[in-house]
Amino acid sequence: MERLGTLWHYLAARRRFAGARVSHDKTVRRHLRWIAERSPYFAERVRSFGLDHWRDWPVTNKAEMMVNFDAWNTARVGLEEALCFAELAERTRDFSKTLRGLTVGLSSGTTGSRGIFLASPAERQLWAGVLLARVLRGTLLSHCHRAALFLRADSPLYHSVGSRRLEFAFFDLFQPLEAHGSRLREFRPTVLAAPPSVLVQLAASGIARNLLEPPAILLSVADVLDESDREVIEQAFGTKLGQIYQATEGFLAATCPYGRLHWNEDLVVVQKEWIDSGRTRYVPILTDFRRVTQPVVRYRLDDVIVRGDASPCPCGSQFETLEAIEGRWDDLLRLPRRDGGGEALIYPDFVRRTIILSVPTGTDYAVTQVSSEEWLISCSPSCDLGGVRRQLEEFCLAQGAVTPRLKEMDWSPPPFHAKRRRIRRQIPP
Ligand SMILES: [Zn+2]
Repeated sequence: MERLGTLWHYLAARRRFAGARVSHDKTVRRHLRWIAERSPYFAERVRSFGLDHWRDWPVTNKAEMMVNFDAWNTARVGLEEALCFAELAERTRDFSKTLRGLTVGLSSGTTGSRGIFLASPAERQLWAGVLLARVLRGTLLSHCHRAALFLRADSPLYHSVGSRRLEFAFFDLFQPLEAHGSRLREFRPTVLAAPPSVLVQLAASGIARNLLEPPAILLSVADVLDESDREVIEQAFGTKLGQIYQATEGFLAATCPYGRLHWNEDLVVVQKEWIDSGRTRYVPILTDFRRVTQPVVRYRLDDVIVRGDASPCPCGSQFETLEAIEGRWDDLLRLPRRDGGGEALIYPDFVRRTIILSVPTGTDYAVTQVSSEEWLISCSPSCDLGGVRRQLEEFCLAQGAVTPRLKEMDWSPPPFHAKRRRIRRQIPP
């Protein structure tokens, strides 16, 4: 039954992607009415702010959701119960179980605040169907696929949709890289999905070149993709790299055959909180009108998005595009302005480009802001930090920001499974 449901969603999702643009306003209101009958938290929202004004409801986020977890979800699952369940799965590395039929996901919570997400079997089928539609681009019924997934945690989500035509293999990031080489070669993946840092390591270690044939579909998932990494990865695998933008909050966007990232506008309404006067970057506020167990309504993600090209995409989809996921809002570097007028935001992308221009290809690096004017910087051995320093100083000058004090640190390679944030801000409260 589950597979049939997934297939149905797969076909429907393909139609929607190619279809005309529609307003989801009525759908959202119907959705909110339904969840308000089952969630005390959203009942209160509807009472206080009215259904018609849902677009202006106060913004929520992960912290707010976790504090109100019990009243928020519509399945009457308590936070304690869900946390115990998820932590046990994480500890035992056994992700096959469900809690009263619900899948329980734990978001890694790099900022220290962990998030818990629940999904019902119906939501699993919808998610799987749409994911397959966006990733396999119409080849599910005509081709057999073997999908290799490099993940920090396995999930029954994937296995529930496996079949003769679509086989999944889970590669645990907590195992060392060397353990995966021969298994991956034997599996002969047609689809390979992994965080970009893992794809880089598969490239550098020779595992990518050692594959019998390039995977038809190669995907960067989970972490921010650096454009410089893209080149290295595409060269080693001999195939184009696409992206899946997915958080525990939902499946949000995917690359189309023409290499552009489209929001999944058939699942979520994306409102924009612009962070610059030129309206080039925004923080997305999501309303997922298909998710019922744990509603995502006017939910502010912790990501900064670079606005997409407004011209129509050659793929024909009218779903809005985004240029890039820049990184986390909390990781934007900030420096005092020279004129004393507040702070200048320094986008990770600028810092990345500045560094990449002054180091040899393939150099790894990390920049951490540790106080209002101090940045720690380290590079993998072969780089000239003097050059990086000069470039960054010039760059900050051009931004009207004071020059940060740069402190050189020894390079220490991050563990294979670690969530990579090359550029981050870590200022103690
Ligand atoms: Zn497109």
